[in-house]
Formats: sequence, structure tokens, C-alpha cells
Amino acid sequence: MCRTSLLINNMFSISDETLSFAKRAEDELTKVFEEIDEISHINFSKVLYAMQKNRLSEAHFAGTTGYGYNDIGRDTLEKIYADIFHTEAALVRPHIISGTHALTLALFGNLKYGDEMISCVGAPYDTLLGVIGVKKTKGSLIDNGITYKQVELDEAGGFNFTGIKSAMTNKTKLVLIQKSKGYSFRRSLSVPEIGELIAFIKGINPSVICMVDNCYGEFCELSEPSEVGADLTVGSLIKNMGGGLAPCGGYICGKAEYVENAAIRLSSPGLGSEVGPGLSVTSKLIQGLFLAPSVVAGALKGAAFASKLYENLGFLVSPKPFDKRTDIVQAIQFNDPKKVLAFCEGIQKAAPVDSFVRPEPWDMPGYDNRVVMAAGAFVQGASIELSADAPMREPYNVYFQGGLSWQHARLGNIIALEELYKDNLIQYK
Ligand SMILES: *Cc1c(COP(=O)(O)O)cnc(C)c1O
Repeated sequence: MCRTSLLINNMFSISDETLSFAKRAEDELTKVFEEIDEISHINFSKVLYAMQKNRLSEAHFAGTTGYGYNDIGRDTLEKIYADIFHTEAALVRPHIISGTHALTLALFGNLKYGDEMISCVGAPYDTLLGVIGVKKTKGSLIDNGITYKQVELDEAGGFNFTGIKSAMTNKTKLVLIQKSKGYSFRRSLSVPEIGELIAFIKGINPSVICMVDNCYGEFCELSEPSEVGADLTVGSLIKNMGGGLAPCGGYICGKAEYVENAAIRLSSPGLGSEVGPGLSVTSKLIQGLFLAPSVVAGALKGAAFASKLYENLGFLVSPKPFDKRTDIVQAIQFNDPKKVLAFCEGIQKAAPVDSFVRPEPWDMPGYDNRVVMAAGAFVQGASIELSADAPMREPYNVYFQGGLSWQHARLGNIIALEELYKDNLIQYK
């Protein structure tokens, strides 16, 4: 047995059976890891180039207070984002609380009474059901006179082009395309196929705003949705783009007019993106961005590792280990609440923070079912950090993601696997 195995064995009480089963799975992934590394080198080059092009300098890290007029750090960060995403403008702010908030700003900023929006991926992410008003909530888009339709994906998980075409009317103002699977077992979409759909929609009506929920999808591929025609590309900074250092925030990249419409919702009409103090956060957002391609690569390797482990054990996994990954989320179908809980307990045990607590299912705001979440994160709720979420409903899927480093994602997987093994919930073949 190698040195690391012996050490892990001593410190974390991992059985030899688990260690050798994990080692075999890892050895099968060499090619996958090489590809992930190559993508991260290219994305890192884009980040470094954008920072140099915009002459990033120490003065940008100071941060402003109050109104935040003339915050050169904030403005530079937004120019860097706009360059990475190849967009006219970017709004990158710590005042955006979450991915849901960023998406809400983009939707409310760009839709008015009487407009219609269409989701092209069937039901969107759970928290958006309340934002749109599919789930009845006060102040939703539907509550504000916006109509909503959704078109399901086809059986292969691709877009239903004819369905989308027939759903579009002269009231259709915006289409929503969610890249990542979220809490569903469907495959996540790739940037090239999102580009195909956008070209199709623009062919029918070029003025329809194509908005992509890019949460979890950033830096997983060689390009971003904004490079294939998305008018708005939106995400969270406590996921991929914050690189684990951003303590909060969200981003909206896209056409200047649409980004400003969202900024007006964040601040006020007449003020828009001109205000918003960077406080002491800007430097973290910038440094987090610098680390993001490498952090995402670690998370992608962890996801592929989990996929291989549980596929080898006979579970249904999505994506499969050798599939092209377009987001950092790995779904595992356990078909058994006990296995879900054991897995989540293992992930929690592997955390740097709160490793001693046991996760339990609870009624989270914005979600329909009870959800169990395992996360012991430096930033509350940050799912770029090693974490697992599972809505407690059939067929008991776990959504596993994150890991600020491959080292953590790897060890976390091994600790979770041991949790299932020692409870006799799995058998190694
Ligand atoms: C996480 C996520 C969201 C919501 O982001 P929060 O930061 O949790 O509010 C929206 N869409 C997708 C696809 C996500 O993964």
C-alpha cells in the first residue's frame, strides 16, 4: 500500500477494502483528468489575459464605502468579467445575495407587465419556481402580470425545437435556458448546443432575449454561453466563479442594455450600476476569479471520481464517468434514503468546518421537498466547496459537487464511501 493510503487509514479510519476500491476507480480516470486539466489551463489563460488587459493594479483592491461612486476596483472587475465572457457589459456585485437573486434581477429588470417568458428546459431550478410564480408566491413574475410557459426537453435530454417554436408568440420577450441539471437527473447542456438553440430562436425572432442560467457551468468547457449568442449569462459567486474566496455575490454578463436593466433593479432607476460600494470585498472577488479555473478543475475531478466509484458499484449516475462534463454537479441515484443519508454524513465528516455535526433533512426556504444538505464550508452555503444536496423524494438522488481542491474532493469521496461501506449499505465486487 502506498504512503498516502497508510496515512489516510490512520487518520480517518478508512478500511483497506475502501482504499483499494477507490484506487482502482481513480486509476481508470487518467484520461478524463488530463482533459479537465487542459480545459482549466485554457480558462486560466483567459482570466490572466483579461486581468492584464485591464491593467489590474493594487489600487483596485482598496474598495469604496457609501454610494460607491467612482469605485475603480469594482469597475475593473466588471471589465475583466466582460472580457472573459465576451460581453458588452457585466454586473458583478457583492450586493447580489445568491444565484437566485442574480437571476431574479435579470428577469424582473427585463420583463414588464404583459410580456411572456418561456423556459426551454422544462421546470427550472427549484428556487426559480417561486420567483416565476409557478409555485404561488407574493411578488412573483406571474403576480406582476408576466405570463410563463415551459417546454420540456426531449427524451434524449436535448431541446424540443418544434415545441419551442410553437410556444413562441409575439408576446415572447425572453427565453430561459438553464445549463446545469439542478435537482433533476437530466443531463446538463453544453455550450455548443445552447448556441444552436439561440441561433434557432433568433432565426424566429431576433429580438427575443436569450438568457442562460449558468450556475455551476462556468469554466467547465472552453467557452461560455455568452460566446454563442446568449444575451444574458447569469450565475453565483459562491459557486464556480468565486473560486471559493468570494464571500458572497453574483454576476450578470451580457448586452449593455439588458445588464443595466438588471442593475436598475439592484439599485434604483436613475442610479443603476453607477452605485454600489465595493467595501472590502472586491479584492476577494478578483482573487477568487484568479483561482476559479483551478478550483473548478478540482471539483470536476471529484465529480468524475464519484461517478466512477458509484457506477462501479452498480448505481445509476449522471453524468457517466467518461461523459463530457458541462457542469460540476454529479448525480447519483441511490434509490434508498438510508444510503442518501450515509453518503451525506460521509461528506459532512470530510468537511474542514463543522465536521462533527450530522446533517438532517429540513424544509429549506425556496424548496418543495425536505432537503438534506451536507456542507461544512468556509462560506455559508457555498456549493463550490465540497457538498452534497438531496431532496428527500423518490428515487433518492444525491447531487454532489465542489471541492476547493482535488485533494479535498478525493478524500471526501473516500470518506463518504467508507461511511456506506461500514454501514453495510454497499459491497465491493
Ligand atoms: C444553485 C443554482 C441556482 C440558484 O443559486 P443560489 O445561489 O442557490 O440561489 C439556480 N440555478 C441553478 C442551475 C443552480 O445550480
